[in-house]
Amino acid sequence: MTRRFQRVQMPKRLTGDDKVITPYVLRYLEANPDWRLEPQYADLVVRLLSEEYQSRVRRFGGSSANSCERAQLFGYIGVPGEQINDDMLSMVFTDGKYRHVRWQILLLQSGAVTDVEYQLYNEVLRVGGKADAIGEDFGVEIKGTRNIEPAWADARWQHKMQSHRYMLASNGRFRRWVYIYEDKATQEWVEHVTYWEDEVGEEVLGELIRLNEARKTKALPVVKPRCEQRRGLEYEECAYHQWCNGITGWGQALRFAKTGRITLAKPERRRLPRNPNIPPE
Ligand code: SF4
Repeated sequence: MTRRFQRVQMPKRLTGDDKVITPYVLRYLEANPDWRLEPQYADLVVRLLSEEYQSRVRRFGGSSANSCERAQLFGYIGVPGEQINDDMLSMVFTDGKYRHVRWQILLLQSGAVTDVEYQLYNEVLRVGGKADAIGEDFGVEIKGTRNIEPAWADARWQHKMQSHRYMLASNGRFRRWVYIYEDKATQEWVEHVTYWEDEVGEEVLGELIRLNEARKTKALPVVKPRCEQRRGLEYEECAYHQWCNGITGWGQALRFAKTGRITLAKPERRRLPRNPNIPPE
């Protein structure tokens, strides 16, 4: 007689590379299916939800890795980005913020991490940012996504670059970075761990060396060819696309950052509120 075995399908989130936080979270959710905020974290939740967004002026952010270097230097100088007052966009931002806080509390209460919103900064490379959470020897980044399918396989290349920036910003403390991808519609999630890889690290370091060289010599990279023609998705989505073509040098960008005023060749003179995050020279 032949016995028939039912094929057991492993949940997707448990397959693939090593998991760091998954065992803690699953164990916790199994024991606490209706989990709620533990009182000792109440103050932390208020702080996380009410604190202002951190200024990126005078540092290169972890999440900017592999993006337009001219845009990164605009951010470093403090050039104001386009202000979009859009009610839907505002809700998208708060959705992301609340997702982060929900995960941060879950990670703390399950014992998967030891701290959240952990500040990182490497003075030499001027690279920094906040890790969403940290454990003994790893950092954590939480990502909401509208399409989780690609995330089942691996972390995105862009995020691997980011993780190496964060690892450099940690001054050698962390050599692995956990990425949590959560589907915004279904709350399915998956964890991937990225480890320090010399090849990726060299690429990320090379970018930071170029940025610091530009900072020291006060030389902005030229406008990208497609952006010069005011075409393409990168141009349209860039926060600086309105001014990029009109900014000719470092001094002009710095004056714009300090005063909120810029004179563009075309089409008009613009004035923005002064950026309070610009420190004195
Ligand atoms: S408009 Fe294009 S070249 Fe200019 S900062 Fe943005 S992405 Fe870079």
